[in-house]
Amino acid sequence: MDQTKLRIAIQKSGRLYEDSVQLLKECGIDLRNVKDRLKTESDNFPLEVFFLRDDDIPQYVEDGVADIGIVGENVLLEKNKQAAVVEKLGFGKCRLSVAIPRAMEYEGVASLQGKRIATSYPFLVNKWLNENLVQAEIHEISGSVEIAPGIGLADVVADLVSSGSTLFMNGLKEVESILQSQSVLIKNNGLGKEQEQLLERLLFRIRAVKKAKRNKYVLMNAPNDKLKAIISLLPGMRSPTVLPLAEEGWSSVHSVLSEDRFWDIIEELKAAGAEGILVVPIEKMVN
Ligand code: ATP
Ligand code: ZN
Repeated sequence: MDQTKLRIAIQKSGRLYEDSVQLLKECGIDLRNVKDRLKTESDNFPLEVFFLRDDDIPQYVEDGVADIGIVGENVLLEKNKQAAVVEKLGFGKCRLSVAIPRAMEYEGVASLQGKRIATSYPFLVNKWLNENLVQAEIHEISGSVEIAPGIGLADVVADLVSSGSTLFMNGLKEVESILQSQSVLIKNNGLGKEQEQLLERLLFRIRAVKKAKRNKYVLMNAPNDKLKAIISLLPGMRSPTVLPLAEEGWSSVHSVLSEDRFWDIIEELKAAGAEGILVVPIEKMVN
């Protein structure tokens, strides 16, 4: 009997490719000959992978050609397709911003009135202009938007930015942010029961991987008379593990720290008398 497979669409090549494949790998899903780059499957999870241009992924998922997909929120919202966001994945972070030639005068969105805007995101930019009651001319370009003002094709651009160095190199400065984006896992709205169950299994793994990345395993030595103060600083899942050291009067304390307050807590632990602090990455975290 043919086994039900979950079909996932990911970017064929580009900024999301590596992280998408890496995520599946960290979920323990081995992929066969990824080099082929059209379609592949896994031998140890009922998953079939389609490699596509990111722009096509929302449509394929809406149509049910793929059950799920990994795509930037920017593309999902621009294509305006029916597909539900299941999970934010934390990579491919960027923003869709308006950038203008450095010499241009700018006093807020009204300065964009009547301007020619080059962008690959006509739908989102148009919506944003309407919300801001600005009328401007949108010129849709599929790539290298940042060169448009330099060659006289447009006055300003609306483009994806992460570090801002591309804009800078092209003599542009960022003045407005239209959208914050990261990659997301999306699903078809009418998934069958078996597909939903497979998606649940995949999501369980994705969440364990994401959680592990946000946390570190910390080990330290502590004199017993300072244990109480040290333990009170540690959040941990339950209480920390405390083991006696060979040296009389000392213990080893193990705990899990999340990255948001990581350095603060390490400093406090040192100040409270902890020594020989070791920080170790966690591979998976399952609750
Ligand atoms: P494709 O050939 O698949 O159409 P592409 O050229 O449209 O590829 P990439 O440049 O690979 O797309 O970007 C894919 C996604 O990566 C973007 O849609 C966005 O979500 C994300 N991204 C993150 N940072 C940036 C950035 N600085 N510039 C462009 N995209 C970025
Ligand atoms: Zn694209």
